Parts: sequence; structure tokens; C-alpha cells
Amino acid sequence: MNHEQVFEALESNVRSYCRETPNLFSRAKGASVWDNEGKEFIDFLSGCGSLNYGHNHPVLKGALIDYLANDGIGNALDFHTEAKLKFMSRFEEVLLGPRHLPHRMQFTGPTGANCVEAALKLARKFTGRFAVASFTNAFHGMSTGALSVTGSRLARESMAPLLQGITRLPYDGYCGAGLEVLDRFYEMAMDPSGGIDPLAAIIVETVQGEGGLNVASVGWLRKLREISSSLGALLIFDDIQAGCGRTGNFFSFDHSGVVPDLICLSKSLSGYGLPMSMLLISPEFDVWRPAEHNGTFRGNSFAFVTAEATLRFWEDKSFVKSIAVRSKLLDTWTRDVLLNYPGIAVRRKGVGMMAGVEFRTAAHAQGVASLARQSGILIERCGPRGEILKVFAPINIDCALFDEGLRRLTAAIEKAAEMGSPGRRPVAA
Ligand code: PLP
Repeated sequence: MNHEQVFEALESNVRSYCRETPNLFSRAKGASVWDNEGKEFIDFLSGCGSLNYGHNHPVLKGALIDYLANDGIGNALDFHTEAKLKFMSRFEEVLLGPRHLPHRMQFTGPTGANCVEAALKLARKFTGRFAVASFTNAFHGMSTGALSVTGSRLARESMAPLLQGITRLPYDGYCGAGLEVLDRFYEMAMDPSGGIDPLAAIIVETVQGEGGLNVASVGWLRKLREISSSLGALLIFDDIQAGCGRTGNFFSFDHSGVVPDLICLSKSLSGYGLPMSMLLISPEFDVWRPAEHNGTFRGNSFAFVTAEATLRFWEDKSFVKSIAVRSKLLDTWTRDVLLNYPGIAVRRKGVGMMAGVEFRTAAHAQGVASLARQSGILIERCGPRGEILKVFAPINIDCALFDEGLRRLTAAIEKAAEMGSPGRRPVAA
């Protein structure tokens, strides 16, 4: 049997990425990934945002190898460890302190979904309320609570019925919705006969990843802050995908001046693809009793070690600038695509190193993605119908390699455009 037949026979039907890219991968370095036959791919997927600093970054690898060589403790539950002490002290020193964020750190189970569950539970416990507002096209994970606040019907239906008390609101820009929708919602929530149960929390991604690279404006985020405070609801920012540098700075909301009550982090927190999640809790809301949100894998010391090593990047002021340089390359590329392929490319999406192009139909995006894969690019689509090509390269990708990958994407679009039909005019993002 070849490897595809082995996976077909032994692995569950649930597998997905490997269906479109069935190669057998063996090595990876920076933004390059090689299969067992030596074919090189340029990584425009970054482990779905869990490898923002690329594969096997020497600084992170060196820290991990040293730790392993010294027989550093591995999983340590929530015992005090040197690895955790160092990470927490440095996270405070490098990221929280300079931003005047007073938040405490809770290490949840190691997936993003577990962190979201913890946030929802804590908001419900603190407020004594059960209702939660979430948004169209949101994605928060695959466990029950996280699915309940997720938009995708496909994702939700296998677990239905989900949590009760979820109010769905239009995200910024959804069908033209803006601040006035939040104002209207606020009036309804304040009206004893408005039909809205008292809210425990509002949970939101400042940039929606899976939902289509939708970017909330600063004004909208500030309005959300205002509304959640007046309603006595906790404001939860799910920064699992948009955080850890993806949009240009460590937190996706750094530019907004908004301070959320709870912040979910995971994916690239460890920087090395090692599972790790952290809920940041503004101290007044830290009402957990000991062991109330437990989990075996809350003490992955290897992840603490590499996460601490990522802070060296953030200490260096030039790091943010270097992300901006790459973001500019991506922005220019999306603009060129819109200009040159108006028949199939209709809109620029996203921000920073979390950007892409919306195509006229999902079939166009699928065609482009498939041609791109054939030319050696690891890439995926997002959006409610998979109509958006999502460029998710490491935020520190070598600029020449980035150019080469974008050139291959353009060639794929060119080919797809030749096969497609002229469509509607592009819409400015
Ligand atoms: N929240 C957001 C914004 C995500 O993008 C994801 C995963 O893509 C999750 C939560 C869930 O994280 P995980 O897959 O690690 O459970």
C-alpha cells in the first residue's frame, strides 16, 4: 500500500487538509516544507496560524533543545516550574506591562476551543447570567460552547442542540451593518420587553479568520466596549487566530485602545506548533475556585520554553516594522490582483499578514487554490462558502520567498481567469 492508501484505511473520514494536498511531508524550515520525494512547498498556511514564526525557528529550537538536554520537566500540570515562571515573568515584562494590561494568566487545556470554553464559563460564573452575544461568520472552535458562538451551520449541526441563550449579531460590515446596529441592539437589551436576556458576555474576533478575513473597525470595537460595560457583560476578544503578530502587532487590538475583559490566545503562542492556550483575565473577573477549570495538559513546559523564546522577537522594536514590510508586499499584491483580474477577483480582504482575495465564486477560489497547490504552495480558502483565498505566510517569511510564492499565486489566478468568465466589477475593501 502507498501512504495514501494507509491513511485512507486507518484514519477517520474527518481528515480534511490532506485530501487536497496528499503529499507525505517530512521536513520543514522557515516558510519551506518538503515532502518525502524532496518536493518543496512554500507555506502560505502556517499551520492555520499556529506557526507565525515559521517552522523550526533556530531561536525557538535552540531553547527547546537546551531544555530537553537538561532533562527539563515535561508536563507539569499546574505545579510551579522554572519554565512557567520564566514565561509568565517575561510575558508580563515584554507584552502586558508596556501596554498597561493588568490581566492575569490562566493556562487552560491546550486547544483554542478549551480557552474559549473557559472564557464563556468564567463570564457566566462572574455575572450569574447565561446569555452570550456573538457574531455572524464567527469561528471559535469545535467544542460545544465554542460551537454555540460560531456562525457556520456546517460546523454547528453535528453537535446540535447547542448552548441556549446565544444572540447572534451582524459583524461590522455584514450586509452593510455598522455602529447603528449595535446602538439598536443596545436599546433592545435595555428594554425589559426587548426580548434580550441579560448578557454574560460578548465574544468577538477583531479580525475574523475562518469567517472570511473580515476586519472590525476601531469605532465598532470601541462601541462594543461601551455597550458591554453598560450592559454589565464581559467583553471577550478571541485573539486565537488574529493574535501573536498576525495583524502587525502582538495583539490584534493593539491599535484600537480597547481593553477587553478576557483575551483568548492559543495557536502561535508557543511559536513552535506546540499546543498551548492562555486566557488573559482582568483581575476583577478572576472568580475561579481552585480546579474549577482543570485539564491535564495545562502545563506543557516545552511550550512554555518556546513561548518565552518568542518574546525575544517582541522585545526588538524592529520586529513590528519587519512585519509591516511583509504586510505591504501582501497588500500591494492583493491590489494588483484586483486590478488585473476583475473578471474573477472581486474584493481585497483582511489586514496585515492575514489577508487575501475574495473571488466571484467559491469555484473560482477553489480553482485558484488547486492550481497554486500544483505549483508548490500550501494554502487554504476561508469565508462562508470558501470563496476567499487566504494568504497566511509566516509573519517573518523571507521577502524573496514571499515574492516567489505570490508570483506563483498570480500565475494560478491568471490561469483560472483564462478558464473563467468575465464577472462583476471589483468592490473596494
Ligand atoms: N478561535 C479562533 C478565532 C480560531 O480561529 C480557532 C481555530 O481556528 C479557534 C478559536 C479554535 O482553536 P483550536 O482549533 O485550537 O481549538
